[in-house]
Amino acid sequence: MIKVDTDKCLRCGGCVGVCPVSALELTEHGIKCSGRCTSCKSCVNFCPVGALSIKDD
Ligand code: SF4
Ligand code: SF4
Repeated sequence: MIKVDTDKCLRCGGCVGVCPVSALELTEHGIKCSGRCTSCKSCVNFCPVGALSIKDD
């Protein structure tokens, strides 16, 4: 799963497009991550402001 730093996130939606399994969604409350996430880190590496990190649970 992905954790979003909502103070950093610009809500640009870019990470939504790079996720290979469409696990991210841009909602009115910001980026949401679904259970489909495989922790591939593509979105973490893409985010221009470093707002995303892997959450282990
Ligand atoms: S790429 Fe980064 S700044 Fe853009 S919506 Fe995703 S988490 Fe937010
Ligand atoms: S870590 Fe990979 S699978 Fe998970 S939300 Fe980011 S791009 Fe998608």
